Amino acid sequence: MYNRCFTILIYFSRIIFYKIGLHKIKKLFEELYIMQTKKLNSWLELIAPEYPLMIAGPCSAETEEQVLQTAQGLIDKRVQVFRAGVWKPRTRPGNFEGHGEKALPWLKKVKDETGMKIAIEIANAQHAELALQYDIDILWIGARTSVNPFAVQEIADAIKGSGKVILIKNPVNPDLALWIGAVERFHKIGMTDIGVIHRGFSSFRPGAYRNEPNWQIALDFKNRYPNIPMILDPSHICGRRDCIYDMAQMGLDLQYQGFMIESHHNPDKAWSDAKQQVTPQTLLKIIDKLCLRKQQFKDPEALDKLYFYRNQINQLDDELLKLLSERMQVAQKIGRIKKQKSVAVLQSDRWQEIMQKAIEKSQELDLSEKFILQIFKAIHQESIEKQERILKK
Ligand code: PEP
Ligand code: MN
Repeated sequence: MYNRCFTILIYFSRIIFYKIGLHKIKKLFEELYIMQTKKLNSWLELIAPEYPLMIAGPCSAETEEQVLQTAQGLIDKRVQVFRAGVWKPRTRPGNFEGHGEKALPWLKKVKDETGMKIAIEIANAQHAELALQYDIDILWIGARTSVNPFAVQEIADAIKGSGKVILIKNPVNPDLALWIGAVERFHKIGMTDIGVIHRGFSSFRPGAYRNEPNWQIALDFKNRYPNIPMILDPSHICGRRDCIYDMAQMGLDLQYQGFMIESHHNPDKAWSDAKQQVTPQTLLKIIDKLCLRKQQFKDPEALDKLYFYRNQINQLDDELLKLLSERMQVAQKIGRIKKQKSVAVLQSDRWQEIMQKAIEKSQELDLSEKFILQIFKAIHQESIEKQERILKK
């Protein structure tokens, strides 16, 4: 009798768990679907109906004069938003960490004098409350904050129902899920004016830029959420002013909808990020030079050619995939021999020889060494994994 009751109890609890589980999964899917399809970009159409969005201004609000002088230089219909850091997350202590609340009235003055919207970074609930109190138009979550789900949630709860625009920078580490998660927290509490900022990712390797662009992560985000505006921050990617224009043009070519570019009336004397800031005059020249290419082809002849070349690309991609698969099959055969003879998977000399050959060949074929190295490293990694699996069998 006791056993029967227990079995029935287990049976019913399974049904309940099954139902709750299904319900939760369904809700999660619904939320994801809504975030992918809901109109989250109306704010952009209002603020920047004619040109790409341009958010410009100093890294930090240093003095009232610096803020006002820089803003005066930026008055132009193509710069719709003025930015300035009021709370500055600095890597090391002892650097200027921003004036905090004291700087907020300066930004109000910029808004009154220039008509530009104002954007600032907020990193906790207290910042959020002050930003709302001073009626800041656009709030952004910095790259060091978007890595922290507790901080993001705290901010989301503090600005819930405010109707403000929220922009979420990519987290410092190259983690798409973490970036999406931060955006979801704002979407979940009902914010409808959302955008994301691609500012590049930290890397332990010294590279050409201060932060590696890792374009693929941003493009994956864009493809998944085409309804969320993607803004490029060339200043924090480049870390130096001489490549801001090229980076911004790249953003336009990849159909980013806007930019955040640091500008200071006297960049060399800036209290933070001096190397990457440009004067307002330089920024306006950069905007003049930017070339907005058409998004779609209308000309039938061009369309025909495009169709022809796209077909060719599809065929080449098919061949590439087949070749890769063949190569892996050969690697597996080698793996079996290594297993029989108890030889280690990694044969460094052989690998050096393959890389050397590929690099030499790449020069003949007009392919960059960096590109070939990346591809061959990925192929080598996959071969090793396949051979490891054979050795473990
Ligand atoms: C900034 O915009 O000044 C800033 C600190 O940016 P990030 O969060 O991208 O480092
Ligand atoms: Mn900065």
